Amino acid sequence: MLVVYLLSIQGMRKPGDEKMKTKLPAYKTKLVCTIGPASNSEDMIEAMICAGMDVARLNFSHGEFFEHAEVIGKIREAAKRCGKWVAIMADFPGPKMRIGEMLEPVQLSGGDRFVLTSEDLVGDGSRVSMTMENLPRVVRAGNTLYLNDGLIQLRVKDVTGMDIVCEVVVGGLLSSRKGLNVPGIDLGVSAFTDRDRECMEFAFKHEVDAIGQSFVSNSKDVNDARQAAVELGYHPFIVAKLERATVIDKLDEILEAADGVMVARGDLGIEIPIEKIAAAQKLISRRANMAGKPVIIATQMLESMINNRRPTRAEATDVANAILDGADCVMLSGESAVGKYPLQSVEMLAKIAASVEPYRKDLHPDCAWHDEPVRRNMDGADLVALSIKNILPRVNVPVAVFSPSVSGYTPRLLTRYRLPIWILAVSASWKTCRELAFSYGVYAIHDQAHPRDWTDFIKAAVEELELAGDCVIQTEGPSPDHPAINHKMELIYLDDRLQETGAR
Ligand code: PEP
Repeated sequence: MLVVYLLSIQGMRKPGDEKMKTKLPAYKTKLVCTIGPASNSEDMIEAMICAGMDVARLNFSHGEFFEHAEVIGKIREAAKRCGKWVAIMADFPGPKMRIGEMLEPVQLSGGDRFVLTSEDLVGDGSRVSMTMENLPRVVRAGNTLYLNDGLIQLRVKDVTGMDIVCEVVVGGLLSSRKGLNVPGIDLGVSAFTDRDRECMEFAFKHEVDAIGQSFVSNSKDVNDARQAAVELGYHPFIVAKLERATVIDKLDEILEAADGVMVARGDLGIEIPIEKIAAAQKLISRRANMAGKPVIIATQMLESMINNRRPTRAEATDVANAILDGADCVMLSGESAVGKYPLQSVEMLAKIAASVEPYRKDLHPDCAWHDEPVRRNMDGADLVALSIKNILPRVNVPVAVFSPSVSGYTPRLLTRYRLPIWILAVSASWKTCRELAFSYGVYAIHDQAHPRDWTDFIKAAVEELELAGDCVIQTEGPSPDHPAINHKMELIYLDDRLQETGAR
């Protein structure tokens, strides 16, 4: 029986290597990596998983379905070889606006007249088509529009039929299919588009674990995506990408509806003034922590590593600050998708996380979420999580919290407190194990949670994971065998006599 337990702890050893002991990572932050041409080979995917990739992100704004299907197969195989949970996230395009094709790149200069049109044409230095047909109906003279990742700024002078006539305020080089942003303007469209529906069908067919929903404005956008998934019989982990100026006002309802959120700083940094991104990131991270929902900080984290082997000091500091802000995950975009140093970028994230996490307690001693009630009515799991956070400094260095879980709910509540020890989530659900790849400090073990001989199981896991200390904490929720238990925790000592002290 012991052997079964040992082999079932994910990541503990590579298949066929009976002697290998698995060490838990030296950091608890989770690493999300965008897979692209620079990283879609089997060898690179495996190397990135070994270096710390927890979530592989596929950007559905690029590539064909058959290409994504091939990459999904490679990720699954590599994850199996590495003995590690790797969640796959399909990032849907949503209502991302772009300009159409251009004959050739053109240089726009301040004061130029430039027309965006719903007409289907090949663009030149005077006009270009765009993907959002109804834009001429919702913009007005005086509105500001941005092209090419916010680099080019236009002011609307007039709207005539299908044409938006603009004056170039800040010029720059414009080429085919660059992004178009219209900050603060309600486009009157759902964030869940027809294209997203096709992507959802693909994601369902290929058993993708999570979807990223772009340009979410409110809970309805998330619910639309969930409804479309449920109609297929699909239950993905839904990450709401926060990249619209208005999301701050709707944060609580979005956090309630979504399973996790992403601070998508690329578009967010165009939709709100760039100097406000830091405050938005801190606010979103804190509120997501309080809600027990994983938060991903994304975009330009190590941008210069697209071309250089080392990041700038500012980038390394940005990653560290994101972790101190409460990020569950830090994300690579271009660095791992198209950069020259995808593997080194993952290694760098891991190094920064390992280096900054020990300072979290000293640098953020009054993390507000530690003491704030998470919801008005705390349930049993909330109370158990809060108790564990409170008793930790008073017991003999527990080595870990063992948290049997059906859905991942209790481990996610526990990680809000950024405990100094690992949360070992034990779940019979493969889906739950993979979804916990998004949660800071949670390590999933696939096993039946009930009924079991916890003593043997815990001792074997502690030994196998090379954890040091003399007791563990275990949480328990209601189960078919113990329906009367609401929630409880026990302190389990690891000596031969094995004492247990329970608290319900
Ligand atoms: C972003 O805008 O920061 C982002 C992650 O979204 P995408 O890369 O899909 O535009």
